[in-house]
Amino acid sequence: MDHLKAKIREIPNFPTQGILFYDITTLLCDPQGFRDTVDALAAPYMGEDIDQVVGIESRGFILGAAVANTLGCGFVPVRKPGKLPGATHSQAYSLEYGNNALEIHQDACAGQQRILVVDDVLATGGTAKAALDLVRKAGGHVFGIAFLIELDFLGGRSELPGANVYSVLHY
Ligand code: AMP
Repeated sequence: MDHLKAKIREIPNFPTQGILFYDITTLLCDPQGFRDTVDALAAPYMGEDIDQVVGIESRGFILGAAVANTLGCGFVPVRKPGKLPGATHSQAYSLEYGNNALEIHQDACAGQQRILVVDDVLATGGTAKAALDLVRKAGGHVFGIAFLIELDFLGGRSELPGANVYSVLHY
């Protein structure tokens, strides 16, 4: 997977001092890089009868929608507050550089048994934990959670006990 790492641009001190930002736009704009990324994210779930991919705004939309298409299943967005027009569940969370909240449509995944949550980066785990909580509030069952990048040194995985966590790239 080093060929994928080679296409990810690392930007120091963005968006705040001390954060090394992994910029995946340089990977996504490369046709082979984008294809290999989506294939690597989807590979463990081929043949697993995933019902829905839940993508976390906003880079989780890009990757999650492509993974859903590859797996032949539906896509559900988890969005920032005030963006979803229907009745929502909301979950507050903290991330590597700030606080926020996420929302899901209340009727988005009721009764869905095999949901795959997708995002670009697992850092401290707050975002992912909020997304898992939202899927459960909405009546869905999480089969797994997949990231392109996991920042091992931040220990975000420990925020997701019991979850089946998969990351393509580790730093
Ligand atoms: P966290 O909740 O701390 O796990 O942060 C994960 C979210 O923040 C993901 O949706 C990422 O898009 C973003 N993020 C956090 N840290 C970074 C980083 N170093 N580089 C790029 N994105 C990051």
